[in-house]
Amino acid sequence: MDWDKEAKGAVDSIPMPEIMKNMTILYAEKLARKNKKSQVTMDEVVKTRDDYFELFGETLMKRLRENRSKGVSDDDIDPQITLNKGAKLYQFDLCHMRYVGCTRQLIDVVDLAKKINKKMEEWNVTEMIADKFDVPFMPHTLFTVSISSCPNNCTAAEVKDFGIHGIAIPEFSHPEKCTTCGKCEEVCIDEAIRMGKNGPEIIMKHCKQCGACAIECPEGAMTIAKRGYRVMVGGHFGRWHHIGKELFKIGDEEMVMQALQASIDLLREKAGSEEHLYHMVEQYGLEPVYKKLKLSK
Ligand code: SF4
Ligand code: SF4
Ligand code: SF4
Repeated sequence: MDWDKEAKGAVDSIPMPEIMKNMTILYAEKLARKNKKSQVTMDEVVKTRDDYFELFGETLMKRLRENRSKGVSDDDIDPQITLNKGAKLYQFDLCHMRYVGCTRQLIDVVDLAKKINKKMEEWNVTEMIADKFDVPFMPHTLFTVSISSCPNNCTAAEVKDFGIHGIAIPEFSHPEKCTTCGKCEEVCIDEAIRMGKNGPEIIMKHCKQCGACAIECPEGAMTIAKRGYRVMVGGHFGRWHHIGKELFKIGDEEMVMQALQASIDLLREKAGSEEHLYHMVEQYGLEPVYKKLKLSK
């Protein structure tokens, strides 16, 4: 599609991480098609900027703008690149909270990944995997760790060897403060909130534990009762898909580390050449991992 000269310059100056840059261009072009134009003009660029600002929030955009003005590249600020550097046979996939933050974030994915990385080094995971594989190592040899900050699960925890996402359990804890404004119901895209005369009712079987209703409640009537981590193990994406099995719905950091250690131990003790965690979970189920979790309590 054609671009007006001024519009082209302006879209490039919207502060965006490099990986999102092309998305703003495509979005502006889509808006032009919607406006029945054959050329992208400033109208579409301004709307693109406003829509992305609304999505990311002014604080995040300010941070991006500052980085850009300092000439800092994505590589310099993206902790995932640093974590995955070097000769290792495991890899992290962290959601975007890691470098731009996110309006939905519940846990600090970078902090957790750093702690996991330290443990993986201590446990000699790279060496263990290397000794298991009797063929030259390829990208599919890697043990994958996925960490998303919220149940939107942008890094698809279910298809990684070890998948984690943050969760927050909401509670209508202060009914006396509730003005029945309906904001909590409005922001719940899972229709897990039903407004009644005296305030909201949370339908737990529909709740994805994203915490949005509590975060958005202007009165503090809805709060987060508990925050933690959901863990899935044994996922795999490729020729054979395997959806990771849920180990627990909510746990603390210590439980995450215990679960990881138990999963690594299962691989170390039982895996044959070229076998991944999903082979182990298929063969032995989650019992060996559960057993170690209980033992360490
Ligand atoms: S997983 Fe949640 S916090 Fe992370 S980028 Fe996606 S929406 Fe944002
Ligand atoms: S957002 Fe808060 S104040 Fe408004 S209805 Fe929900 S709980 Fe009540
Ligand atoms: S935590 Fe999320 S899914 Fe659950 S009720 Fe609140 S907004 Fe809905």
